Amino acid sequence: MCGIVGFTGAQSAAPILLEGLKKLEYRGYDSAGIAVMDGDTIQISKVTGRIANLCEKTGDGTKIKGSTGIGHTRWATHGAPTEENAHPHLSNDGKFAIVHNGIIENYISLREELIQDGYFFESETDTEVIVHLIEMYYNGNVREALIKATNRLRGSYALGVICTDEPGKIFAVRESSPLIVGVGVGENFFASDVTALVAYTRNAIYMDDGEYAELSKDSVKIFDCTGREVRKEVTRITWDVQAAEKGGYEHFMLKEIMEQPAAIKATIAPRIKDGKVVFDELDLTAADLKKIRKIVITACGSAYYAGCSGKYTIEGLCHIPVEVELASELRYRNPLIDAHTLLIVISQSGETADTIAAMKECKERGAKALAIVNVVGSTIAKLADYTVYTWAGPEIAVATTKGYTTQLAVLYMLSMLFADQLGRIDETDYKKRIRALQAMPRHIQQAIDMNPGIPRLAKKYHSSKSLFFIGRNTDYAAALEGALKMKEISYLHAEAYAAGELKHGTIALIEDHQPVIALCCNPAIMEKTLSNIVEVKARGAEVLALSFRDNQKVLSAADDFLFIPDEDALFASAIEIIPLQLLAYYVAKENGCDIDKPKNLAKSVTVE
Ligand code: GLU
Repeated sequence: MCGIVGFTGAQSAAPILLEGLKKLEYRGYDSAGIAVMDGDTIQISKVTGRIANLCEKTGDGTKIKGSTGIGHTRWATHGAPTEENAHPHLSNDGKFAIVHNGIIENYISLREELIQDGYFFESETDTEVIVHLIEMYYNGNVREALIKATNRLRGSYALGVICTDEPGKIFAVRESSPLIVGVGVGENFFASDVTALVAYTRNAIYMDDGEYAELSKDSVKIFDCTGREVRKEVTRITWDVQAAEKGGYEHFMLKEIMEQPAAIKATIAPRIKDGKVVFDELDLTAADLKKIRKIVITACGSAYYAGCSGKYTIEGLCHIPVEVELASELRYRNPLIDAHTLLIVISQSGETADTIAAMKECKERGAKALAIVNVVGSTIAKLADYTVYTWAGPEIAVATTKGYTTQLAVLYMLSMLFADQLGRIDETDYKKRIRALQAMPRHIQQAIDMNPGIPRLAKKYHSSKSLFFIGRNTDYAAALEGALKMKEISYLHAEAYAAGELKHGTIALIEDHQPVIALCCNPAIMEKTLSNIVEVKARGAEVLALSFRDNQKVLSAADDFLFIPDEDALFASAIEIIPLQLLAYYVAKENGCDIDKPKNLAKSVTVE
């Protein structure tokens, strides 16, 4: 998920690897390491925290000899961010060192198999199975061993490998994780993105899934998954470094919005096995679940709004009462929480101070806490009784996008798991919803593709004094997050209202040309929201409706439209929010705001 680099040439490798890793720092990471080969010995250096620590430990690379090496910035997914878990990892015979970005979904069964075969493990990572598999399949031919080992892997990986039998060579493989070969003169490279390469070469080969690279200082060879050599085009990199860091996007926020299909897939795909939701990390039995009388969800900001959506899904599928409460409120109340309460805490960073305090308060009253967290090894992850990671990858923009949608995906899957274990969902319904979960990455992509007109809408709405977001039920939950996104990054006043509440107050504020963004994606309550659209239109409002493309009634009532594909209403917030994120983004852009770092906001709120 974070970064890998590889170098082979005539110069000393360590300083070049460190420079490359520095360029990948923006991707977010928690530990780092390099492995350098000098003749047939491999020297490894690893640290937790910053690359600066690695520079200090290695004297900016001068303490490590050798001109062939690999490097890694780790963003922990399996195992805490410790030195043992940091990459590179070594094979038991010391012949191979590897770095890996991504997630190996079937690592548990592979680990058991390898332990039975006598291999020992030194880390908790999923990655370590790969290096032992390579050793197991190695018969004097590294390429063959790599093909056999990677054939056993399910999941995503960009791998860098060195082997003491092949001095001067670096190997790389990719599957669903970025990897680029840099072609130099008398030296060659690989890296997760071009930022790490541009200081040395502007000639790049973009590797495709299933391809292997074998590089020495004077040769670059790429093979397909059958071991046949393939001819690849060398592309000239024209990007400047800053643009490259953002994957060509103008802002991290836009990049992260666009990453959501892949992020949601990383959250969902490993947890659906043989048509069932499975959380390997969760040992909550049906007996435990039967004892639960209510679920309390607590969080702050967008994570709280994810909880508001999750309430509908959990209650709808599991028939367990759910309360959602802001952590900053819950912690200072005298909440009615006991051993029959399951507390769900949600936090992207896992360090949100109010959420930590609320969790401690509830645990003292006997509740078990299940945490939904993105950052591995964070305080909340450690304090919780059960932890589920969202695996969204690092989120750099302050305003969350993929962090929020992956939290929703976890809540949806938990609802399915609980409903199934409690016997509260019939088979046909269960299967239908499994299909809906599997379709979610595709639907998110469609929600991006269906709305090319958003920049134009932003031009129309950006100078408004305020915006109202309305919706009912699940649409209301999505409206809350939609309004927050708008406030956070465009500094426009935005307010989400349960559409039925309008006439109890807010309608007094509706006047000529007041924009109202109406979410109409829940068929059960659509007619009611439609009436509210008519009410605000009658008072002069300009209505931007969010609905399905074939929803004629809504289309004929509104002035402008945002579309999503048809979606199961209980899972719809994760799709509805996509055009709203984009709208907030383009409005903020029109207003010249500092989109990735909105004023006064911090990414991880570690103070009360
Ligand atoms: N899944 C691996 C780990 O946790 C790699 C993480 C990464 O991509 O940095 O060690």
